[in-house]
Amino acid sequence: MLTDALTEPGLADFRAKVRVFLTGNLPDDLRRAASRATSVFIDPAVTLPWQRILNARGWAAPDWPAEFGGPGWSEIERYIFAAECAAAGAPGLAPMGLKMVAPVIMHYGTPEQRAHYLPRILSGEDYWCQGFSEPGAGSDLASLQLRAVPDGDDYVLNGSKIWTTHAHFANRMFALVRTSTEGKPQAGISFLLLDMKAPGITVEPIRTLAGDHEFNQVFFDDVRVPQANRLGGENEGWSVAKHLLTFERGGKYAPGLIGRLERLRGEDGIGPVLRAELDREAIGLAALQALEIKAMRGLGGSPALYASVLKILGTEAAQRIDTLACEIAGPAAWADADGQTPAELAVAVPRYLNDRAASIYAGSNEIQRDLIARLMLG
Ligand SMILES: Cc1cc2nc3c(=O)[nH]c(=O)nc-3n(C[C@H](O)[C@H](O)[C@H](O)COP(=O)(O)OP(=O)(O)OC[C@H]3O[C@@H](n4cnc5c(N)ncnc54)[C@H](O)[C@@H]3O)c2cc1C
Repeated sequence: MLTDALTEPGLADFRAKVRVFLTGNLPDDLRRAASRATSVFIDPAVTLPWQRILNARGWAAPDWPAEFGGPGWSEIERYIFAAECAAAGAPGLAPMGLKMVAPVIMHYGTPEQRAHYLPRILSGEDYWCQGFSEPGAGSDLASLQLRAVPDGDDYVLNGSKIWTTHAHFANRMFALVRTSTEGKPQAGISFLLLDMKAPGITVEPIRTLAGDHEFNQVFFDDVRVPQANRLGGENEGWSVAKHLLTFERGGKYAPGLIGRLERLRGEDGIGPVLRAELDREAIGLAALQALEIKAMRGLGGSPALYASVLKILGTEAAQRIDTLACEIAGPAAWADADGQTPAELAVAVPRYLNDRAASIYAGSNEIQRDLIARLMLG
């Protein structure tokens, strides 16, 4: 299931090199753990060892420019790498550092901030969480209230963040805070990089419908953050956040979904109706793949527009594949009594439940449709 761009001449050697690396370096225990993961946010006990292996090869951050530690690959090579990793069953790395905050540090950071944070993100020494949403600010993010009041060289933070994925693992958070109540809500927001071990931060778990502990509420009680940890200007954090959200929402959904779909298609005993539905999804994913490559190559359309379109198409496809997996698994989706059920089927129900959130996080799909309408219709 390859679009033409992925079979262009000269790419076979690159693909072969990646395959050889994956065969020789992806440990079985990490592959097995990834195959049983019930969320796109895989436990760092699984992702960080893999990130270290990739980093030792210089491949932990395929999308980063070479000057910051990326491998210097073309867009298509980066796409092939993602596809090969997914096909091999490699764990997807946590996006908050590598894919979300890193590009905005590259864009808005001072030379000191870049030199400090980027190598620590690559190596996995820093593990990041995202402090955007608050109990009263989700879709209407600009109404956020966590106050940051200047005091000497610091800001003093009071308030809370919610739905903070992996805050219980993170030693770093990038956060939107209110530094002014003047003017439009968007105009009084700043973007801070903060230490999760700072006195006054408390992380309280929230359990999901599927029973996972994946996200949290984080409380700030007189937390001091150096003003030097602000990314971009004071009250200019909204622009930084919008830049970051294009990286959070956009990107590559198809490689992982194609990997899952192909594993499902490989199952025995699937009737003709379900098989036809799997085939239909395969065609849809090939189209999604072509669109993702077009977006990566910057061929027409704004990055924000692509990001919203891809987020809707990718997450809705994931939810349809979850439904198909449950239908194929039947009773095995509920109870893998002997531990012999193929991983795709054994985790079908937990994945189905977990992926209900996919059309909500990173900005709900209703909000993405609204953004698309605004971007296209003005
Ligand atoms: C699993 C998961 C992980 C998350 N991780 C993080 C994280 O790490 N960091 C973080 O900051 N946030 C995180 N979030 C929060 C996420 O960004 C918000 O849940 C999301 O933006 C929606 O906000 P809300 O939950 O407050 O819902 P609301 O904004 O209250 O929306 C409720 C419903 O109303 C609809 N709605 C609201 N406004 C409109 C409108 N104008 N037009 C049409 N429909 C509308 C929404 O689409 C939604 O269906 C996570 C969420 C989930 C589910």
